[in-house]
Amino acid sequence: MTVYLVGAGPGDPGLLTARALELIAAADVIVYDRLIPVSALEGARGDAELVYAGKEGGGPSVSQEDIQRLLLEHGAAGRLVVRLKGGDPFVFGRGGEEAEALHAAGIGFEVVPGITAGVAASAYAGIPVTHRDAASAVAFVTGHEDPAKPESALDWSALARFPGTLVVYMGVRQLATTAEHLIAGGRPADEPAVVIERGTLPDQRVVTGTLETIADVAAAEGVRAPAISLFGPVAELHESLSWFDARPLAGVSIAVTRARAQASALAARLRDLGAGAVEAPVIRIAPIEGPPPEPGRYDLVCLTSPNGVGLLFARLEAAGLDARALHGARVAAIGPGTAAALGEHGVIADVVPERFIAEGLVEALAEVPVSRALVARAAEARDVLPEALRRRGAEVEIMTLYETVAEPLTEAQRLAVAGVDYVTFTSSSTVRFFFDAVGGGGLPERVRLASIGPVTSDALRERGHEPDVEAEQHDIDGLVAALVADVARRAVAA
Ligand code: SAH
Repeated sequence: MTVYLVGAGPGDPGLLTARALELIAAADVIVYDRLIPVSALEGARGDAELVYAGKEGGGPSVSQEDIQRLLLEHGAAGRLVVRLKGGDPFVFGRGGEEAEALHAAGIGFEVVPGITAGVAASAYAGIPVTHRDAASAVAFVTGHEDPAKPESALDWSALARFPGTLVVYMGVRQLATTAEHLIAGGRPADEPAVVIERGTLPDQRVVTGTLETIADVAAAEGVRAPAISLFGPVAELHESLSWFDARPLAGVSIAVTRARAQASALAARLRDLGAGAVEAPVIRIAPIEGPPPEPGRYDLVCLTSPNGVGLLFARLEAAGLDARALHGARVAAIGPGTAAALGEHGVIADVVPERFIAEGLVEALAEVPVSRALVARAAEARDVLPEALRRRGAEVEIMTLYETVAEPLTEAQRLAVAGVDYVTFTSSSTVRFFFDAVGGGGLPERVRLASIGPVTSDALRERGHEPDVEAEQHDIDGLVAALVADVARRAVAA
């Protein structure tokens, strides 16, 4: 078997390579560092052995010898071993030493490069490390060593004369002495300088100055590792090319409370717009067993959620039936998400209202003749729709497909949620179970509450909270749009 030395990139999970994801999914053993993307191990096999080998800055740590012994042991045992490191394994990652140890022991290895922080954090700060007009070379330098020490392996006066961009890793603590040595070595004191903290992550911070001022600026701003410092004329381009902070939800952190199965799509949308999304599912969909609908019995079938669609078809399938069981019926969906779910089963919804709530569906069905209707839905759904249909003289059968049950939050999730800017609520049940889960203390005042529509807003009011944001269009697109508008409004006001 082979030991793979794999780079996980600088922190943004989107910067994991396709090869890294493939190997993570296949690995028997993953020996991982602290600075890998938080979600990097999500794709690992359930039975994979995950070994943390992080080195905390200053704190207790797994020694390099122990890490190498681990790789040799697992490699020799013929297991598929992934050694997962932040950034690139061969750039200040001690991957070189690990490869040498494997080579010496006769164990096969491969190297999967990763996107190194010096390139990635710079790019996310809008800084090209080379530029036709401003920098024809770039040097990656470790700032770990104290330049004041006589035994420093680095020739700082040579680096000062380096004709290009200097990118310094691991150098936050030594920033002042590094800058002094570069100036003493002849680098212009007014050369543009930046420090990029937690580059590529949603809370990335960039502080700017000159070689002379940057250490004071970084200290005043409380910049901490992981951060890179970058010196050179290209640093100035951050002013004009900074794109990361320009995204509509940049720097905003948002909690997603809907069920895990649906949370990731909303979270991904928010992340694409620059937000830090905290997944804190407080509900879970618990399917309810039961018979399928009787084929051909209804002239109207109403579906009020994508979950309902999935579970209705699961019941049909279990009975050896398919979409043809709905023949003869008009099919109504409460909104486009539900209609799309029907589409996946080959059914085109006949009716989709303009307002994606039960009242909207009642209006949309006003002209549709109905004598026998099936309403397939959640146990806790409101009775607005069946009652309205019955008032019109229709026979209405309710099929309860699932119930929404509480999903407890972990302590870490509770803490994360208390630190967000917004909490999103996509149904009344997310409201109820969220406030049960966060407990008596509730949320800090400054956390804004965003609701998908009037029904969810009423559930918030019942709990004593006025929603700060309510979507005009009552679906995920509408909620995202409302968040973007609220963030923009507050930025203008500030
Ligand atoms: N092999 C890694 C570097 C490991 S050394 C790579 O190729 O990127 C650790 C140093 O990398 C940190 O001290 C910091 O200087 C830098 N670093 C890692 N992740 C970073 C990030 N997200 N933003 C800024 N710097 C980062």
